[in-house]
Amino acid sequence: MDIPKENFSEWYNSVIKDAELCDLRYNLKGFVVIMPNAADVISRMYRLYEDALERRGHRKSYFPALISEKNLEAEKDHVEGFAPEVFWVTRAGKNELEEKMIMRPTSETAMYPMYSLWINGKTDLPLRLYQSGPVWRYETKATKPFIRGREFYWIEAHDVFATEEDALAQVREDMETTEEMIHQSFGIPFIFFRRPQWDKFAGSVNTYAADTLLPDGRALQLPSTHMLGNNFAKVFDVKYMDDEGKEEFCWQTCYGPSISRIFAALVSTHGDSRGMVLPFHLANLQVVIVPILKKGNEEKVLSHARGLEEALSQVFRTALDSGDDTPGFKFNKWELRGAAVRVEVGERDIESGKAVVVRRDTGEKAGVPFDELARRIVAIGEEMNISLRKRADAWFSGMGKEADTLEELRKAIENGGGFVKVPFCTDSREGEPCAEKVKEACAANIRGSKYGKEEIPEGKKCIACGKEARIYQYASRQY
Ligand SMILES: [Zn+2]
Repeated sequence: MDIPKENFSEWYNSVIKDAELCDLRYNLKGFVVIMPNAADVISRMYRLYEDALERRGHRKSYFPALISEKNLEAEKDHVEGFAPEVFWVTRAGKNELEEKMIMRPTSETAMYPMYSLWINGKTDLPLRLYQSGPVWRYETKATKPFIRGREFYWIEAHDVFATEEDALAQVREDMETTEEMIHQSFGIPFIFFRRPQWDKFAGSVNTYAADTLLPDGRALQLPSTHMLGNNFAKVFDVKYMDDEGKEEFCWQTCYGPSISRIFAALVSTHGDSRGMVLPFHLANLQVVIVPILKKGNEEKVLSHARGLEEALSQVFRTALDSGDDTPGFKFNKWELRGAAVRVEVGERDIESGKAVVVRRDTGEKAGVPFDELARRIVAIGEEMNISLRKRADAWFSGMGKEADTLEELRKAIENGGGFVKVPFCTDSREGEPCAEKVKEACAANIRGSKYGKEEIPEGKKCIACGKEARIYQYASRQY
């Protein structure tokens, strides 16, 4: 029941259409309509993620979607990085606006001028706020629903501290939050890379990004956390008074999980040739009841099925499919949409006192006594979550490769992709031409070095320039 890897793109496009996840016919290029079958799962992911942030001391806020041109332009690297992809608002009604505005592509320049007003003394720190909602970026690359679009839904957390040490601790905490949510809760494996200096978030000191792999072996960036140092604090005057009465610039971090993109990874990681498979706690339908009707027994079977629906609805998101379609048609439909457990009930089942229970991920069938259904389904849900994560982990860990030459790298990339470890000269700005060379030769991008595991290559040469290698980098094709 695997996804054919060569046909991943085709599989993805047909699932998002057939399972009614989004509609591509909206008449603005790069914008899609997210339909209820996806929006319900996305809302559930949002709630879990927001809870995880709040448990760690963040509070929610809502900042305006529009940002003044003046704010955007304050931080030199930031404006350089984002200006090419912002949407501008230049008119209102019949008036040309005196001060142009941008639709937020990210909210540093909306939030930090306010932080400057709110933070005075040490007692105002740490300040940890997040907001949830859409951002807009004028993507010029090919767009793909949920993966890359001109509008996406995310959470952005923006934190402020008195010391560099506290800010670095926040970066590590963001990584823990990522592990808890993306891996433990959603079952999606990833590696945290420290991005090379030429590929970090515009205006940051360092960027640490969690990359997963889609079934075709190409990397997809999931949440990233950024050490901002006091780059933005200096520009927006985010300061506090220390114990001696001296003004000090604050240290800042920001963290951005894109929930709509994580949804794409969720669908891709767990799906199979029949369609969507979702972890039990995220599935729109945890239980779908399909009555097996024959002429003459309809009333009896349906009334039994309604009783089951009422009982199971107390515990699970449950639906009874009592429509006129054949059972086989209904099975396919609900498998495509990722209903976690199917309960079949016909006349013979009623007589034997057992329903047929079918688990979505493995297709396993079992006869379960009616009065044990709820208990058994709870257990199946737990088993499903663990086994989906383990299956994804097993595949992911087999996608790590190594190469010492461009030719080896090209072969590894063409033969299933994955993350290929390569010796490299440097991840400072001077290394960028080498990354360009790798891209030209192998259509692969340098994603960075593995966080927390700094291996030093010994006696190896940079894969691109042939100088002494000082660091290992990981290369992959990317979305
Ligand atoms: Zn080099």
